[in-house]
Amino acid sequence: MGIECFFIIFTIWSSRHQLLSGIFLNFAFCLAGYHLLQPLLNYELISKTKNEEKLLKNQREVLNEINSLKNKINELEISLEQAEFRVPKTFPNIKFLNYKDRKRILVTGGAGFVGSHLVDYLMKEGHEVIVVDNFFTGRKRNVEHWIGHGNFELIHHDIVNPLTIEVDEIYHLASPASPPHYMLNPVKTIKTNTVGTINMLGLARRVNAKILIASTSEVYGDPEIHPQSETYWGHVNPIGPRACYDEGKRVAETLSYAYAKQEKVQVRVARIFNTYGPRMHMNDGRVVSNFILQALQNESITIYGHGKQTRSFQYVSDLVDGLVALMNSSYSQPVNLGNPIEHNIDEFAQIIKSIVNGVDSSIKYLPAVEDDPQRRRPDISRAKKYLNWEPKVSLDTGLRKAVEYFRREILRSSMPIIPQKLLKRGDKDLW
Ligand code: NAD
Ligand code: UDP
Repeated sequence: MGIECFFIIFTIWSSRHQLLSGIFLNFAFCLAGYHLLQPLLNYELISKTKNEEKLLKNQREVLNEINSLKNKINELEISLEQAEFRVPKTFPNIKFLNYKDRKRILVTGGAGFVGSHLVDYLMKEGHEVIVVDNFFTGRKRNVEHWIGHGNFELIHHDIVNPLTIEVDEIYHLASPASPPHYMLNPVKTIKTNTVGTINMLGLARRVNAKILIASTSEVYGDPEIHPQSETYWGHVNPIGPRACYDEGKRVAETLSYAYAKQEKVQVRVARIFNTYGPRMHMNDGRVVSNFILQALQNESITIYGHGKQTRSFQYVSDLVDGLVALMNSSYSQPVNLGNPIEHNIDEFAQIIKSIVNGVDSSIKYLPAVEDDPQRRRPDISRAKKYLNWEPKVSLDTGLRKAVEYFRREILRSSMPIIPQKLLKRGDKDLW
């Protein structure tokens, strides 16, 4: 304000001195104008800086947004790469079947050891396959190479509960199969083989599907007849530790023939003998998996009892061929599917040792297990006659494939895989 006062005083003074007044008046107007405009100019400057700040802030926000989007894209790219790595983009080759020949086939227990090999076979033949499994002993990994294929479906379901689905054929395999697994929850094992089988037979009746039941050599129990033919009724302890499985399967067979007689369901019954091969559960406690694991990890090979008890081992692809042949046949009585070459467990331990090179595992004898069947060998004349089937894969060839599979699985695992132990006399706490 000082300068303005000065000009007012100067204007009054200069009015007395006419000459200078013109010059100063002009000057005064300019200066006053400048001062009057000053706030306006300042305002413009301030708002300009404010706008720039705003712009900068916006730019910063946009940059932050771009960076976070870039990060998200990177994360997505990484998970896509991982997904591509896990799920093969290409599927195994399959045959083409036209709609008249292509069947919709349900495989219960299809994520298990035998089931997954059967699924491979049926898929490659060009059928539509639906797997139903509760993953108790099965794994998605066994069938993951089909996940995403147009002909394949995987349903997480417990067959103790009813299932509604339209199918032409049912391979009913769902049930734990190894003694430690089926003894873990005997009540559930019985339910799976009885209630579960009723559900599957009921489904077959409703949709008029053919159904194959996976029964077992255990229906013969600890047999008094050797080798076991299908006409033998068996020798089973109904209250022993194996009863939940043995009797469960016997009821499953009884149910099958009751549905066949009363409801005209087309049933097939396969009595499966000891089967081995890749995708066996690593520590299911069966003799094949235990001995291979023990030999590969240089541990003692554990023989229960005297080692003179016998078993006959078939390779899984032979079993799959037999199951399909039985389903496609018109033969409805039970059929043994197994390899008739018999070995005692002592011999079997030596065979495993010779196949797993460089092993120096010792043999360790443990107490015998309760109700262990002493001799087992299938009479396969029925399968030969009605299915034109017999096993093709030798024990040596099959075991080498199984050993390779176990070797790879051990490498995948970061820690040693401990073989399961079977329940022994007095181990009442587990069941
Ligand atoms: P596994 O344990 O590998 O497979 C059984 C499958 O059934 C698993 O995927 C499991 O998760 C599933 N399952 C179990 N209970 C179920 C339920 N309640 N609902 C849905 N799914 C269920 O056994 P495996 O060796 O592949 O045996 C297959 C079939 O063959 C079984 O019925 C078994 O009794 C029979 N069998 C096998 C052998 C053998 O040596 N492997 C011998 C005789 C009979
Ligand atoms: N067995 C053995 N050592 C093991 C596992 C099993 O000596 O580590 C014996 C078992 O006692 C039986 C035979 O091998 O006599 C076959 O057992 P597995 O559990 O494989 O099948 P099973 O035919 O008894 O159902």
